[in-house]
Order: sequence, then structure tokens, then C-alpha cells
Amino acid sequence: MSVPPAARRVAGMGATIFAEMSALAARTGAVNLGQGFPDTDGPAAVLDAASAALHGGANQYAPGIGIPVLRQAVARHQQRHYGIDLDPDTQVTVTTGCTEAIAGALLGLVDPGDEVVVLEPYYDSYTAMIGFAGGVRRPVTLRAPDFRLDPVELEAAVSPRTRLILLNTPHNPTGRVLDDAELAAVADVARRHDLLVVTDEVYEHLTFDGRRHTPIATLPGMAERTLTLSSAGKSWSVTGWKVGWATGPAELVAAVTAAKQWLTYTSGAPLQPAVAAALDDEAGFPARLAGDLAARRDELVAGLRAAGLETYLPEGTYFATTDVSALGWASGSDFCRALPERAGVVAIPTEVFYDDPDAPGAGRHLVRWAFCKQPAVIAEAVARLGAADLSA
Ligand code: GLN
Repeated sequence: MSVPPAARRVAGMGATIFAEMSALAARTGAVNLGQGFPDTDGPAAVLDAASAALHGGANQYAPGIGIPVLRQAVARHQQRHYGIDLDPDTQVTVTTGCTEAIAGALLGLVDPGDEVVVLEPYYDSYTAMIGFAGGVRRPVTLRAPDFRLDPVELEAAVSPRTRLILLNTPHNPTGRVLDDAELAAVADVARRHDLLVVTDEVYEHLTFDGRRHTPIATLPGMAERTLTLSSAGKSWSVTGWKVGWATGPAELVAAVTAAKQWLTYTSGAPLQPAVAAALDDEAGFPARLAGDLAARRDELVAGLRAAGLETYLPEGTYFATTDVSALGWASGSDFCRALPERAGVVAIPTEVFYDDPDAPGAGRHLVRWAFCKQPAVIAEAVARLGAADLSA
């Protein structure tokens, strides 16, 4: 065939770094601290609810916007945790994981040439979907060691072409939980420049040391311009279920629904009542999970530091970040490619989440480690890292 086999929008796109690294772990038998997924199931009652729905006839198309029971449960969740009032019929739409909510939001809200301000390092689906929408990304870098959002840099990233700010807090991959001052700065920029905010809050419940996540939609003047995205995967340890949602003003939610109806049309019917059960009946699960994760974080961070890796303490999420430059590595990708053979462990190179990983303060030398694993798995990884020669 002499014609190019792929369209330009996907040409050169390989597998995601998560797929690549999980395959590397499988191939080498390494402990997989790469892709962020827990190795224990969510609440048994939630799994039972899915099973009951599966055997109870919930096996045909759900409505495109999601079953009423789930939309109502999402609205109750936002009210219970944050005091946000939503009309479940017009201000909630159910998606196939937050990834589809991100796709629906960007395809539904961004025109070709529109600029999207995005925190960097960024989750890779943001850049893919900004590209599919024909948008132009304007990254604002969160820099080690504290990964704070600089309001001056945020302001400088905005232009007359800016359409929206794509926020993510708690933040993957850095583990930052944006504080009140940072959120206020984002809200101030959004209000002054009349921008939309799309905010990915999938780690909303997974915060540590008494830190609390605040949805930017709760700040003054923000509810009318904010589309909030989340999912059940992280909070209830069911990342493979792919049930998420977008909430906010009816017009913004309608734009997501308009785009997503051509992607998946509708999301897993028997999983929707089960996720509603999670939201309503297992409301305490995420906080217990966060407590467990904080302990796992401490074990992994102590082990990484003992192995000679400079490690930043995350405030939330599944992930800790290390700087591998002190061991002589210029590139986190080189380190991660060598790691299965050196130590029998897999991690994710953060450098793939930057426009320019060599820019000042960017993360060519940063590596992300997942601690959403059973204590024995973390202990094994730590023992292997401790016994290995990790120098370049
Ligand atoms: N969100 C998870 C992570 O960051 C998984 C991502 C994926 O596999 N696309 O690890």
C-alpha cells in the first residue's frame, strides 16, 4: 500500500506510556508500579450490585446521559461532599470513564485554533484530545520540589484565543493538591478573561495528611463556567469499570453529551446501578482507601529514599515522584527502560508529560511510582530497589 496507513491525527502515536510500561512489566516479570490501578477490588457490596444488575436484566443500552438512578446519585454526591446543587436531568451526564468525559469536554467545547491552558506535566489524554479537537495547548509548568502553580505564569499563558483552562487536582502525576490560593488564582484568571474551566477531579477523595480537595466550581462566580469531571474508578477501586461523569451548567453538560453520543453512545448498563450504590451506600469507602494509601505512600517514599532516590512527598493521588538525576541519569525514560533489568521494577517516566522536558524546571529527570498496591507488593519493590545498583 503506498498511501499512508494512518490519518495525520494519529500518525506516529504509539501505545500510551501506561500500556507500554505495563507490557514491559508483564514481559519481564517486574513489579508494576507504573500504570495507576489498585491490585485489590472495590467494596464487595458494589461488586454484588453489579452482579445483580447483570443477572437482573440491565444488559441493554442505558440512556446516553446515564440511568436516572446514577445521575441522581452523582448529584447527591456533589451535594453531600461539596454543597454543590445539580439538576440530575440536565446538569449530570454519565461517561465511559473520566477519559471519555475529557474527550467529550474537549470535542464539545473547543473549536479549531482555540487555546487550552493546561497544567504540565499533564495526563496524556489531555494533549491527545486537545489535538483531536484542533485546539492549541498552552502548558503552565508545575515545578519540583513543591509543584506549585505560579499565578504569573498562568496569566502569561492566557491570550485572546484562550477558550478554557483544563485543570487537574489532585494532580496526576505530581500528587499535588491545589490549595486555596492556587484555586483562587485560577478562578480570578478565568473570571477576568471570561474563560471556561474544565476540571479533572478523579482523585478527589484520595488526599492525605488532613488535606481536603476543593472543587473549583465552589469558588465565587465559578459554578457558571466550570465543568467538573470525575469517575468511580479511583475512589472505589474499580478502574476497569470505566464509569465517569461530567457535571456543571446545563449548556456545558449538553456539549459533552453531544460529543460523547458519537463516541460510545452509552456506557456499561449493569455497572451504572452498581456505581450508584457505591456513591450512596459506600460513601465512606474512599476515605478509608485514602487512609490506606497514605500508609502505602509512606512505605514507598521511605523505600525510594533509602534506595538513594530523591523523592517528593505527594499530597494525594496514587503517585510519588522521584528525581533520578543525582544517580547520574539525565533521562527518566532511560532510567525506566533500564529498571526492569536492574531491579525488576517498572515505573513511568514523567518526561513524556511535558511539551519540552528540557525547559527550566521541567521533568526530563523525573519518574512516577504508583503506590496503590498491596503492602507486600510495595515491600517487594522496595527490597528489589534497595538491593539494586541504580546508578547510571
Ligand atoms: N490514570 C492511570 C495512570 O495515570 C491509568 C492511565 C491509562 O492507562 N491510560 O496511571
